[in-house]
Amino acid sequence: MIEMKDVWKTYNNGIKAINGIDIKIGKSEFVYIVGPSGAGKSTFMRMMYREEVPTSGTIIINGKDVGKMKNKHVPKLRREIGVVFQDFKLLPKLTVYENVAFALEVIEESKASTRKRVMEVLSLVNLKNKARFLPDELSGGEQQRVSIARAIVNNPSILLTDEPTGNLDPETAWGIMDLLDQINNRGTTVIMATHNKDIVNTFRKRVIAIDGGLVTRDEARGEYGYEN
Ligand code: ADP
Ligand code: ADP
Repeated sequence: MIEMKDVWKTYNNGIKAINGIDIKIGKSEFVYIVGPSGAGKSTFMRMMYREEVPTSGTIIINGKDVGKMKNKHVPKLRREIGVVFQDFKLLPKLTVYENVAFALEVIEESKASTRKRVMEVLSLVNLKNKARFLPDELSGGEQQRVSIARAIVNNPSILLTDEPTGNLDPETAWGIMDLLDQINNRGTTVIMATHNKDIVNTFRKRVIAIDGGLVTRDEARGEYGYEN
């Protein structure tokens, strides 16, 4: 469902972030993306949801060439791909409920069905009782769960997470991993860029290592493989 063929990315400032990547990621896989800072992990992820366009090569997501896709088709792609960031990126003046509802792209759906779907995902992330809270009234782990709820509210087939546990203490981080695992078990492909060695080495999944803009390792049940 995700395929990169000879993908290169040079930024306008001349930095060569991705230097010829070929990769396939199947439906319902759980994949860690590891590698040192500046290796190209974020660029690799950003190209999948068309936040960046590859300089050359092809990226196919669910049968569509996202590099060549017209801008008007990008919103539809974004409904197929949920994104979660290290710093949550919640809207501070909106409640938990509103943050999630805001992301729900309903086409001619009733208020009742919007409410049903929002409460369904809030219940999945175990935050139904905090629907009326503002983000700054929540702990970091709770805020990350809101951002995960927001990312999956449109039922995306792919969930991209860039350092989702980076700002969380170890125990809270494990709670987030349980949640990502549950989402993965429901059939969503999960791709997680991370520096969390403990999580990668304990909760074994496919590991793709990126270094210098290249895939240097791709193992079915891999290890983190770096000191930190
Ligand atoms: P990682 O996520 O592994 O830290 P990045 O993809 O963020 O790596 O960065 C790869 C390289 O591309 C780095 O040298 C970084 O400075 C550069 N880079 C990232 N984003 C941009 C950008 N928007 N413009 C220019 N250079 C960038
Ligand atoms: P991360 O550490 O999560 O990969 P960064 O802190 O590297 O993120 O990047 C934050 C933002 O700054 C990104 O949107 C990225 O596009 C941009 N950026 C990163 N490196 C550069 C760079 N060398 N030149 C311009 N923009 C950059």
